[in-house]
Amino acid sequence: MIEKFLYSGIKEKDNNFKMWLAFPGPYSFAMSSLGYLWLFKQLDEDDEISIERIYSDTEKTDFAPNEVKLIGFSFSFDMDFLNIFSMLDKYDIPLKSKDRENFPLIYAGGPVVTANPEPYSEFFDFFVIGDGEDINLEIAKLCKSNLKRNKSEILEMLSKLDGVYVPLYSKKVNKLTKKLEECIYTPILSENAYFKDTFIIEMSRGCANRCGFCLASYTNLPLRCVKYEKLIETIELGLAQTNKIALLGAQISAHPHFHDACEYIYKKIQNGENIEMGVSSLRVDAITPEVVKTLVAAGQKNSTLAVEAGSDRLRKVINKNLQENQIFEAVKICRESGLKGLKFYGMIGLPTETPEDLEAIINLAKRIKKENKGFDISFGFSSFVPKPHTPFQWIGRESTKSLEKKSNFLKKELHKIGVDVQISSIKWDYWQAVLSRGDSSLGDFLVEVYKQGGKLGAFKAAAKKFKIDTDYFALKDFKFEDKLPWDFIEIKPSKDFLIQENKRLISIQCL
Ligand code: SF4
Repeated sequence: MIEKFLYSGIKEKDNNFKMWLAFPGPYSFAMSSLGYLWLFKQLDEDDEISIERIYSDTEKTDFAPNEVKLIGFSFSFDMDFLNIFSMLDKYDIPLKSKDRENFPLIYAGGPVVTANPEPYSEFFDFFVIGDGEDINLEIAKLCKSNLKRNKSEILEMLSKLDGVYVPLYSKKVNKLTKKLEECIYTPILSENAYFKDTFIIEMSRGCANRCGFCLASYTNLPLRCVKYEKLIETIELGLAQTNKIALLGAQISAHPHFHDACEYIYKKIQNGENIEMGVSSLRVDAITPEVVKTLVAAGQKNSTLAVEAGSDRLRKVINKNLQENQIFEAVKICRESGLKGLKFYGMIGLPTETPEDLEAIINLAKRIKKENKGFDISFGFSSFVPKPHTPFQWIGRESTKSLEKKSNFLKKELHKIGVDVQISSIKWDYWQAVLSRGDSSLGDFLVEVYKQGGKLGAFKAAAKKFKIDTDYFALKDFKFEDKLPWDFIEIKPSKDFLIQENKRLISIQCL
């Protein structure tokens, strides 16, 4: 395994404080996870902290488990809990916090626990809520300076840090929001990374579009953009090491200098530099011939466009506000500027969806196909999962039966017109919704799911064993006045704003 460090590397360290930064997935995914690698760099650059990366497929560690004082897990997907439990098991570390005496202290950060840490509150000693870059070092140092104290004393101290949630002590916690003054990039390149030797650059964080279902937008407001000079400096830093770069951000095309950055790369390619560039998905309304020309020159053959829903009406309800003619125009630009194909992303089961909205997807696909002969088009769908801190957090999912019917309808009709389609498993999306809106009563259920092998049957059996009403979490429409498990997280915009936004969006169906 060849790794190239883009910072001063691992120095001789004072070795009396050892920590693991754990990724609940294989090495290849971890080495393409910008947030995980950046946190590692920050901790690794400190002389006082000895840190090692571990993954779900780590075979041998440098540190013995009993010397490790602190373990931080990156928690990005609901089902990550399965790998987290199996990693703890592998090192004979009890899963529940109450069964672990003093060390190691175990915490988690990332989108899942920022949204709602409650289902996992029995397992982790504490959580980082929000942008964790600046707090991890403080946490590690606090633990290091208090090794002689017992666990509850240290946890009480941690509970006083802004952005740290300790289930044992905290009542309220502020979500951390970082100013994007520096440009975050891949600090270690690996030829075994999922995106091999790719230098990923975070261009912006958050998305100001505020689609009603979108966790990535609502938990990352406001939209923050890196200064253009920093961005160019970082692009140059990357290109000095590799020819593969990727620009990352939920809404990179909203960066005021996105087009300038594309132009900058394009000119370099025109001047003979061999650059491969990828971008995270683009918004339809940001597609211009110049942008696509750059992507094509940088080796991209296909791209993805998130259209979310089939009709203008439903796109308005979800706040996507994208008109059908904009989609047709974007596809035309992509085809004429040299892309070979596009994959369209959407969601089924969105609030207020009607059979006409599904028909609209088929009609959209038909027209795109007809007007773009020879252009490769395909569709991908997931089903709506209500997410905390969004205007749709109160809205329960449709039943699995009804969503499967919709899914089969789309598959059949799109295949009929020769369009490939992939639809996420409706059953798995159901369990995702249970976890997403779950509370602290789910602890034993999660352990049982893990012990039973973590497949769909295990979720069902565990719910039966512990008499958990999982439909309550996944399907029920909550009331605005209900107390929600994640209400203790102080985040902007406020719950009142979300209620108003919910009412505004849902009322659009009546127009
Ligand atoms: S445009 Fe995309 S990232 Fe932005 S709010 Fe909508 S779904 Fe989320």
